[in-house]
Amino acid sequence: MGNKRHDILLINPWVYDFAAYDLWAKPLGLLYLAALLEKNGWGIHYIDCLDIHHPALKIAGIQKPKRRLDHRGHFYREEVAKPVALREITRRFYRFGLPPAVFKKVLVSVAAPQAVLVTSGMTYWYPGVHEVIHVVKETFPGVPVILGGIYATLCAEHAREKAGADLVIAGWGELPVLEALQDLTGFTPFFLPDPVLLDSLPAPAFGLYPELDYCCCLTSRGCPYACAYCASALLSPRYTRREPASVVEEIARSVLEYGVEDIAFYDDALLAEQQFAIALLQGIAAREIKARFHAPNGLHCRGISQDVALLMRQTGFTTIRLGLETTNCERQQATGGKVNTEEFQQAVENLRQAGYLPQDIGAYILVGLPGQGRAEVEETIRFVQECGARHYLAEYSPIPGTLLWEEAVQCSPFDLAHEPLFHNNTILPCQGEGLSWADVQALKALARVP
Ligand code: SF4
Repeated sequence: MGNKRHDILLINPWVYDFAAYDLWAKPLGLLYLAALLEKNGWGIHYIDCLDIHHPALKIAGIQKPKRRLDHRGHFYREEVAKPVALREITRRFYRFGLPPAVFKKVLVSVAAPQAVLVTSGMTYWYPGVHEVIHVVKETFPGVPVILGGIYATLCAEHAREKAGADLVIAGWGELPVLEALQDLTGFTPFFLPDPVLLDSLPAPAFGLYPELDYCCCLTSRGCPYACAYCASALLSPRYTRREPASVVEEIARSVLEYGVEDIAFYDDALLAEQQFAIALLQGIAAREIKARFHAPNGLHCRGISQDVALLMRQTGFTTIRLGLETTNCERQQATGGKVNTEEFQQAVENLRQAGYLPQDIGAYILVGLPGQGRAEVEETIRFVQECGARHYLAEYSPIPGTLLWEEAVQCSPFDLAHEPLFHNNTILPCQGEGLSWADVQALKALARVP
């Protein structure tokens, strides 16, 4: 086949879960791929099942869920039957995203593409991925489907066996996708990025959204640390960072082109390097970019020096989540040593000095780690309160391949090894004698005390 124009369809699938909230969530990896394919001459069709502004929702007479001023908010959702594996869990279960009939209408409106790329998020969200692939296969028989993303990387065997895709790509997808498309369609890419050099990738294709509330930005992939509970090293085995000037340019263009006022950083290690953090923040300040900046992923406390805190305040960082997890020294060390209690205290102090109020400074606390008891979490909550910050409980989700995985499998009352639905943190996968479901509800109540 020659190099004539080919069309490709990219899909961000439904989420099936007890709860889901749009904390500035866009499928950034898929948008990077879309931009790369576009640059290589592909015609792009794009369906984000989670897009609350999708025109098909309006046509179907469905009202958009409300958003907050900073554009966080609910997804559209419909209650569905729980999967058999979760039937004992006494909570309602939902499909988040376009109703299936609406999705099918959108799908048939796409002229048959040469291939379909489907991304995936949390391992326990696989039912939405499988269902989307099933519908695509019904609609476009014979069109190859390529599956990538987080579930495809962390549960590659499960995905290969059960998802129904023609190809499952684990890990960074840029080059494998270009190669696979060349094999499948004969369409030879003429632009090959260096995946280790993030700046060699074209900016994510946010222009594919007819309406956009916010943009997301990635300044690095991976993390210099290797925490025992975290998937970062599995998803990005190599830590690689962009040039600050290129990030600033991308943010400035996003604000100008899409008119967004909110930018969320998706990094695992946004402030891990002082020099980079200062250059980035100074660059944003120098360009006088008017936006609210959000860091919903935990920030490294060590990176929040007085200078960084002042620049964060000056540039408009409004969502700050520090990755504390626990004040238990042994556990801090045993799980990777990314922070100690004094460093957390110092980071909070620097942020307070820079003008942030306690309610502006969030701290993640992990709950439900294997062997963790209620008292440890209670102590951590109290400590965060005393420091003048606000605590956010993050229930532990066991991730295959992480250092803590085997221990999680051993202590869990659920069959984690064979059913990814049991990785869902809502069910408290590693509950046990030290920490029960009732304990977590009590801790949440404690966390709500102002
Ligand atoms: S520091 Fe954060 S991102 Fe890095 S490995 Fe630890 S938990 Fe993961």
